[in-house]
Amino acid sequence: MTRPLLLLLALALPALAGGPFDVAAPAPAGLDRAAAQRETRALLEALIRVDTRNPPGNERAAAEVIAAALEGVDGVTVHVLDAGDGRANLIARLAAARPTARPVVVMGHMDTVGVQEDRWTTPPLEPTEKDGYLYGRGAIDDKGMLAAAVVALRALAARRDALARDVVLLATAAEEGGPPVGVDLVLERHRDLLGDPEFALNEGGRVRLRGGRVEVVSIQTTEKVPYNVRLTATGRSGHGSVPLPDNALAALARAAGRLHAWRAPVRLNETTRLFFRGLAQVEADPDVRRAMLEVAGDDAARAAAAADLLSGDPGHAAVLRSAAALTLLQGGIRSNVIPSEGGATFNLRVLPGDDPAALLAAMQAAADEPTVTLALDRPPAAPPAPSPVDSPLFRALADAATTMAPGAVVVPYMSTGATDGAALRAAGIPTYGILPFPLEAEDARRMHGDDERVPVAALGWGAELLYRTLQGVAAR
Ligand SMILES: [Zn+2]
Repeated sequence: MTRPLLLLLALALPALAGGPFDVAAPAPAGLDRAAAQRETRALLEALIRVDTRNPPGNERAAAEVIAAALEGVDGVTVHVLDAGDGRANLIARLAAARPTARPVVVMGHMDTVGVQEDRWTTPPLEPTEKDGYLYGRGAIDDKGMLAAAVVALRALAARRDALARDVVLLATAAEEGGPPVGVDLVLERHRDLLGDPEFALNEGGRVRLRGGRVEVVSIQTTEKVPYNVRLTATGRSGHGSVPLPDNALAALARAAGRLHAWRAPVRLNETTRLFFRGLAQVEADPDVRRAMLEVAGDDAARAAAAADLLSGDPGHAAVLRSAAALTLLQGGIRSNVIPSEGGATFNLRVLPGDDPAALLAAMQAAADEPTVTLALDRPPAAPPAPSPVDSPLFRALADAATTMAPGAVVVPYMSTGATDGAALRAAGIPTYGILPFPLEAEDARRMHGDDERVPVAALGWGAELLYRTLQGVAAR
């Protein structure tokens, strides 16, 4: 058979097997697949209908929906923790009948980012099924995961005699840009309700669909640390009719242009090395595949060339180094006035292990404008250690994923965005990130964007992945 024919056959096989969300393995004991699909969808729809756009958040209303879904479930105690101004966190604890190990936490955030309603094709706060997808703000960030976690917890509750550890659900407020009334408040005031957990499962990773099959499962073990670098340019003010050589806005524009082109040094860590090696296994382009293998290799010249090639993909470029993006420009008061000051902000995402102060100094040098000063928005702090890849929770999640999607490659993953996981890791709780629904890249990119959506048939898949993972790590 010719190669193209073989390829065609390989592409057709998943379709013959019934599509990406049909799992060949038998359902795990204690999970009714049809019920998990139906219940996850119903709860997600109820959560999307609660407006928790942050600000103002209003998470208390979403916490009440979750509390109602867990009411009367045997062995589950629910605490809705009021944080004032309509905000709340929720902790629900499923008590193992005879615990012999420390609890596992499964968590998600109840707030969402805002919407540009006129850019959506459906009402963003009204869950709408279209073309096999469920549309609505929060569908994949992060209400879908919360709904799946509640359904998994309810199914586990029916088997708590078989659990060796408590399973704790944590639903947080204020993940999308603060204020600190979410995970920070929980860790500060209610840590006892978490019961000294051994580890936690949060958002942040990915189950990547390509060509109708689950190709890569990325488990987040660490994340970049966000800062803002504020640029301030100063110069003489004057009349717009008399151009001045030290125009503050011109200096600001030059500095911003140079910093836009600036690149921090490439630096790999355990997570990103394993990440690129794993991706190489499924990469179709031979040049990219070789680069993925060489970027973490010992040959410095080859590694540098490989990093250059991989950096053509903005997502890979951001994983390879600390990086700063121009996000705000402010200046001017009137069209006929030369202002004496202007400002800009670069959003800086620091690799764990890089020194924010050294990066600031490098950026100041790269800006190369004596009248433009740079400052960090907060004092640099040591980033939390990455969560180890050899833990029972990482293994349980990897096993669950490869049972449901045989042939999928599992990799540890450093997310470039920030999640609540950083606060838990900083508090000494190893935390692993997964968004449990298989998504094509185009759908994953809708997170925070217009027409956020999740494949309807992926909802039960996600609940099953969480159930299998929690069962795997908590079963005696
Ligand atoms: Zn999120």
